[in-house]
Amino acid sequence: MTLPSRLQLDSAALLHNWRLLQRLSGPAACGAAVKADAYGLGAREVVRRLLEAGCRDFFVASWAEAAALADTGATVSVLHGVREEDMPLATRLRHARPVLNTPGQVARWRGHGACDVMVDTGMNRLGLAAGDLGLVEGLAIDTLLSHLASADEDSALNARQRSAFAGLAGQTSARRMSLANSAGIGLGADFAFDLTRPGLALYGGVPRAALGGVRQVVSPQAQVLQRRRVPAGQTVGYNALWTAPEDTEVAILNIGYADGYFRGFSDRGTAKAGDTILPVIGRVSMDLTAVNVSAAAEIGEGDWLVLDFALPEAAARSGMSQYELLTSLGARFERVWS
Ligand SMILES: *Cc1c(COP(=O)(O)O)cnc(C)c1O
Repeated sequence: MTLPSRLQLDSAALLHNWRLLQRLSGPAACGAAVKADAYGLGAREVVRRLLEAGCRDFFVASWAEAAALADTGATVSVLHGVREEDMPLATRLRHARPVLNTPGQVARWRGHGACDVMVDTGMNRLGLAAGDLGLVEGLAIDTLLSHLASADEDSALNARQRSAFAGLAGQTSARRMSLANSAGIGLGADFAFDLTRPGLALYGGVPRAALGGVRQVVSPQAQVLQRRRVPAGQTVGYNALWTAPEDTEVAILNIGYADGYFRGFSDRGTAKAGDTILPVIGRVSMDLTAVNVSAAAEIGEGDWLVLDFALPEAAARSGMSQYELLTSLGARFERVWS
């Protein structure tokens, strides 16, 4: 089976990004968030490459995601901790440990081995209150974690969270402390502690200017299903949003919002044939997108075009976040690693 759309995934760029983030983490270890199937790229493929590069700390959201990595050789931390329903699987998997977030999770896990602990320092999402840290006494804690709410902004909350977290050093048996996600690494060495946990920037996202050296990893490509000439004055696509100002050559591509190529790209996205920029015209459909190929005489049925997907620009154009653009890339792409 050959699919009419594919994600070109750049191994060298992924490794470049991890090494860059590792360098920016200073003496701290640099891990990798591979939850949500490594933000849509494919967790097994990403983990295999990062393990080879020397990454030793991986983060997933759920035990199902942990189980899917059981035979990769990776050690994973499960960010959502452990529910009662997870216990049979969680106590069986040797390569995974929970990040305990609540007093209930702490009580449930006691006696079951190594864990991490999440403490809340002001995001008020997951984690024990600092005042409840006495509850973890006696647990075999690998890493004490906290998470930054606004690391992608210049917010006073960043320094407040950092100093609240620093103040917890030595209060538990944790071997390591970890605070920074991708954007947190961009805040500087003070935020790295012992272990950083980038996700977005590994996959080409740029949440802060300090991470401008991050390279694009993901390029969606789609095959031309039909090429047609649209006479001046006629319209293209649903709701006739685009009107041809002159006779225009149009290619219809095998990609749409059901693939994660969102409607926000309507009349705003671009594709490329070689160096020629081809504007998306009209409304993006569920499975199809039209581009103006008047400047590309050679493009016809069966040819492939590359959609522009540099994440900061694509986010600005589509009105979606860089995170949503990655994690919405659908199951209909063939994922092809270079
Ligand atoms: C998702 C997540 C990360 C990675 O965040 P990015 O912004 O993608 O780098 C790190 N830590 C926790 C707790 C997370 O949930």
